[in-house]
This record gives sequence, structure tokens and C-alpha cells, in this order.
Amino acid sequence: MSVISDKNPVVSPEEMRRQREYTEKIKVILQAKYPLEGPKAFVHTYGCQGNVADSERIKGQLAEMGYSFTDVREEADFVLFNTCAVREHAEDRVFGNVGALKPVKNEKKDMIIALCGCMMQQKHVEERIKRSYPYVNLVFGTFAIHRVPELLYKVLRGGKRVFETGETNGEIAEGLPVYRDRDFKMWLPIMYGCNNFCSYCVVPYVRGRERSRAPEEVIAEAKELISLGAKEITLLGQNVNSYGKNCSHNVNFPKLIRMINDLPGDFKIRFMTSHPKDCTKELLDTMASCEKVARHLHLPFQSGNNRVLKEMNRGYTREDYIGLIEYARSVMPDISVTSDIIVGFPGETREEFEDTLSLIKEVRFTSLFTFIFSPREGTRAKNMEDNVPYSEKSRWFTELLKLQETIAAERCKSMLGKTYEVLVESETKEKDGRLTGRTDGNINIDFEGDISLIGQYKKVRVTNALNWILSGELE
Ligand code: SAH
Ligand code: SF4
Repeated sequence: MSVISDKNPVVSPEEMRRQREYTEKIKVILQAKYPLEGPKAFVHTYGCQGNVADSERIKGQLAEMGYSFTDVREEADFVLFNTCAVREHAEDRVFGNVGALKPVKNEKKDMIIALCGCMMQQKHVEERIKRSYPYVNLVFGTFAIHRVPELLYKVLRGGKRVFETGETNGEIAEGLPVYRDRDFKMWLPIMYGCNNFCSYCVVPYVRGRERSRAPEEVIAEAKELISLGAKEITLLGQNVNSYGKNCSHNVNFPKLIRMINDLPGDFKIRFMTSHPKDCTKELLDTMASCEKVARHLHLPFQSGNNRVLKEMNRGYTREDYIGLIEYARSVMPDISVTSDIIVGFPGETREEFEDTLSLIKEVRFTSLFTFIFSPREGTRAKNMEDNVPYSEKSRWFTELLKLQETIAAERCKSMLGKTYEVLVESETKEKDGRLTGRTDGNINIDFEGDISLIGQYKKVRVTNALNWILSGELE
């Protein structure tokens, strides 16, 4: 198949070659500088899986330069924070952590401190770093991920601070090395950017317009992941349902799913995030007929009230949303549905918030990601009148969580005594000889087992449901 992705340009082979030349030069510099143990890098990622996937590509490039990775900041010669701009809280944490590096850097003068990701695409953030964090050596935005070698080379040679935050056409860099944190649960970006401009959201401003990877690139990477032992592949994009729009090929998102489903191997397919406005019956029918697609749909509705949805510029109504869920359940009766919600959008009244509560009761979600509205620089909602005090929004937020906990507890009870296939993911946080597995519907179950089971599919019978926490036994 030969595909030209019209409005989805890729970084030229010459440019990729130029970057690899910088990698070679850096390798020599680092070998001389750290002859014994080699250079160490600490990379911390905030925010969504899109950022996690970017970090894997940045780490891939660092590994080629000779870096090994450490979880201890103080041990690192290169510290990188890949940042998130979606809510103020995430930004505050980044500034807090960068502030905490000052004494570390005073002790270790040649440590390189770098910041990248969505926050860096915002002018006011860049200004603040220039002004108040003089010990940060390198700042780059979401459009410069493949240029890490060139940028780091400049820092290593010049000693000057380097800022690279310009917006480009968003050329997609294919063929970057990828350093994957896990070898059985893997991320596969299929598109970048967003065209939706939901009125509260900063993503379209910091990630640029929608660009899709060519289908043959996606399929080639999927094959590679399967050969590496992937048991679960999650397709990533801000709005995966827009995959392939503006491209000369005719592979839309459902077609892409089917192509991956048809690849041989013992793996499951997940995807996120799906936007209700572009979620079609074709997609739901495809999910239903593809045996490798997990029975899980993450479909953020944000608000259950039509006026608020309109102000949010979401492009669907409460009725449209319920219609989609009904259709999904008619073709996949066991589908698990999760969602994102914003509480306290500017101008939202108590009655309108109650529409969100009633939608939750009606749909009965498996789980919810709930956020209090956070005003973001440059977005339309930032300048909307907002009369509800934060303390009141917090009360609504708690009320919503309580409702969801009751629903989740009922759902957990209904799972008692039943057996589920889970992908064993990790030890439990307590590391008490127990493991955590995730069902097809994205529900965690803890059980006793040996760590050698991590990365395998196992059958677990649910024996205990304590509120919304499930535990079970291996069958
Ligand atoms: N592209 C995804 C969402 C990406 S952001 C989608 O459209 O579903 C993840 C979630 O963060 C959003 O679904 C929304 O619930 C929340 N969010 C985004 N901007 C926010 C803001 N300004 N304040 C509070 N929550 C926000
Ligand atoms: Fe933000 Fe809306 Fe785009 Fe999601 S679809 S990233 S919420 S603008």
C-alpha cells in the first residue's frame, strides 16, 4: 500500500539523519564526560498517555546517546519533566518540582535540567521559566520531540540556555527509537493534535491541529509491538474517531481497528480518547465484531446538561450521548463505559449540575474521571462569567464522587462469585505478595500470586467486594 497523507506531513529523512548525527556527537561527548558509569537520566512524565508515549520516544533518543535511566533525581546528570497544561493543578506541581531542584543543582553544578511538553507551548510559562528559574538549561515544546539531539547538543557545547517552543506544521517524526517502560502493555499513537476547541480546553493551543499517522506506519508499529510480546495495545489520540480525516487514503478509525484486529497474535486492543460527536455506529459495530477489541469504551460526556454542553462547544446533546450508549449496549451487552466530567463550568447552575448527576444514574458508568473546572489561559471559558465559588464546586464534586462510589459498589457486588480473565499488570501498591490484574472492561482485581505471572492473561474468580475494591483468587 502506498499512501500519501496530504495534510499530515512527516519529518524529512534528511532532518532525521541530521538529528542522528547530533546523537553520534553527543555520544562521544558523554563518553568522555562520564567514562566510568556512563550518563544517567531521570525522566518524569505528567498528564495523559499521549505524554507518556512522547516520553518513550524522548527516552529512546536519550538511550541512543548512551544514557541509562534512574528513578532518583539526585543521581541523574540529565533531568527532564514532560509537562501537562490541562489543569492548573498539574502546572503547579511542575513548578513545585522544578523549584525543588534548585538545591540539587547547587550541589551538582553540571546537571542539565530540561522541561518539555504542553506547558512549554504557552508563552506565559516560557516567560516565567526565563525569569524565575535560571537554572533550567533546556526548554522545548511538543513540536520539537525529534529534535532532542540537536537541542541537547547545543546545551552541552554552548553552555547557554536553549528555548525551542515554536509551533511548526506538526510534521510527524517516524522511525524514532522508542524506550518502552513495559513490554506487555504498550502505547501506539495514531494521531496528534486536536481541532475541536472545546471552550475550556488548552490542548488545541498546545498540541496544534489534528494530524494522523499513515496507516502503514501504524500497522508496522503494531506488528513490532506484537513481536515484542504486547498483550495489550492502546491506540492513542485526543480524538481517535477523527483518525484519517484530511488524508488521501480511505482508512478511517474503524477500518484501522479492523486492520490491527486482523494481525495474528494473542493481544487486546484498547483506544482513547473517543469524542461522542464523532463516535459512529460503524465504530461500535466494529468493536462488537472484532474479537481483540476490549469491551471498554471511554467516552467523555463532560456535562449532562444541554446548555452547558453547548457552551463547552462539545457538538452533541445529552440525548445524543444516551443514544450512543444505548446502541453500544445493544451490540455489546457487556460493554464497560467510563467517562470524564467537568464540575463547575462557568455559569453552571445547581440544576444544571443535577443533570450531570442524573446522567450518571441513568448510564451507570464503571468509573469516572472527575475534574473541577480550571480556567486555562487563551481559552474561551477563561473569560466567561463564573459566579459559583470554588468551595461550592468542591461540595458538588464530593457529591458526584459519592454517587459514583455507590454505583461502583453495586457493580462490584454483582461481580462476586464470577470469573474474569485479567491481564496481570503489577504487584499491588502494598507489595504484600498480591498482584493486580485488569479485566477486559478495565476493572482492577487484586489476588494472591507470583510476580512471574505479570504480563500474562489469567482467570480470576471474584471472592470479595469491599465497596469498589475487588479481590479474588486465581482459578
Ligand atoms: N481529548 C480528550 C480529553 C483530553 S483532556 C476528550 O476530548 O475526551 C482530559 C480531560 O480533562 C477532559 O476530558 C476534561 O474532562 C478534562 N479537562 C480538560 N480541560 C479542563 C479544564 N480546563 N478544567 C477541568 N478539566 C478539564
Ligand atoms: Fe480538549 Fe475537546 Fe480536544 Fe478533548 S476534544 S483535547 S477536551 S479540545
